Amino acid sequence: MRRVSIFGATGSIGQNTIDLLRRAPEAYDVVALSGGRNIAQLAQDARTLRAEVAVTAFPERLDELRAALTGSDVQAAAGPDALIEAASRPADWVMSAIVGAAGLQPGLAALGQGATLALANKESLVCAGPLVLETARKGGGRILPVDSEHSAVFQALIGEELASVERVIITASGGAFRDWPLEKLPEATLAQASRHPNWDMGQRITIDSASMFNKALELIETKEFFQVPPEMIEVIVHPESLIHALVGFNDGALMAHVGPPDMRHAIGFALHWPERRKLPVERLDLASVARLSFREPEDARYPALRLGRAVMRRGGLSGAVFNGAKERALDGFLAGRIGFVDMAGIVEDVLNRFEADPGLLDGDMTLENVMQTDHLAREWADTAMQERAG
Ligand code: NDP
Ligand code: MG
Repeated sequence: MRRVSIFGATGSIGQNTIDLLRRAPEAYDVVALSGGRNIAQLAQDARTLRAEVAVTAFPERLDELRAALTGSDVQAAAGPDALIEAASRPADWVMSAIVGAAGLQPGLAALGQGATLALANKESLVCAGPLVLETARKGGGRILPVDSEHSAVFQALIGEELASVERVIITASGGAFRDWPLEKLPEATLAQASRHPNWDMGQRITIDSASMFNKALELIETKEFFQVPPEMIEVIVHPESLIHALVGFNDGALMAHVGPPDMRHAIGFALHWPERRKLPVERLDLASVARLSFREPEDARYPALRLGRAVMRRGGLSGAVFNGAKERALDGFLAGRIGFVDMAGIVEDVLNRFEADPGLLDGDMTLENVMQTDHLAREWADTAMQERAG
């Protein structure tokens, strides 16, 4: 039996992971499941999967979780420290699918105890790439990408030498507003930004897809995970979302990873790696697909990409600034405090403010420095939002 844990179990990636585990329950011994506010889902999955422990990220929800687990053998726990404790429990395979920088510490704990970490939480690599990789090295843990583009690149690189790679191309659907007239973008509503044309995902990443902040994070994730130089990484808009990434080699060959937009492929690949096993995903009928199209991402539509590129080149703690400011700006948009197009402006303001005091970006990549930087970036994003509100 493989010991497995899922952090962010109640979310979109978490539920897709549970769907795969349910198809072979005899193969898995579930150690920990974590959630946030969806206590009913967390308790129900913890019961049916017979988890050792269920953790909600929010201490004020502990009583509710305890009540929902009454009569079962599942332990209940709550809060950030309980997440770290649960991730430190020995497990063979751990899914990191909390949304946001909150996923960093549980992931580090899992890597520290030598687990294989299936990494959906791209924010970990964006905020603290070198620290995450070093923790894996020291703890004997291994990281497998779950983000569809990165799983695709990983698969295209099997059996290849990194030295023969010339380019890594990650695709972007273009998000909810890819065909909108630019002058209409300032009017984009939360409901409109929350509808993805191709993928069914959590609300935050769906809005980040509309703004391309998601792709900007993925640029940085690509550089950190595969250790390729920024100038080798390209983004292309591919509205069909069937090619997830391409790797270009020095002989001119491009290896593309093609498949339906279903995260159970990338999750299942990471679950069964290094083997391939049957997965319950649609088999593409290429004749009915008929055509695949591509276009250059427009700078004016997607300012987040330009910011992400600058951060990817800058390195140091700038990834933590970028992500922290982006998370707060997104909170602001979700709360109706700022408009859709204001998010990029807020993040740029915060980056500029840090850039004016470069010492802040060049500290050591320790957990403490990353957390402090994240905190300050959020504070400055709040200030920038207040200033805009006048
Ligand atoms: P969801 O919003 O659907 O789920 C997020 C999960 O994190 C839920 O379990 C949620 O709990 C929990 N959570 C929320 N806030 C906190 C917090 N402060 N501390 C701890 N846990 C918290 O997100 P997704 O599943 O869409 O995305 C998860 C991660 O995977 C993100 O990093 C995303 O970028 C990445 N990813 C997602 C893809 C997708 O297809 N969805 C594709 C590629 C990457 P609850 O819901 O109970 O409140
Ligand atoms: Mg992705």
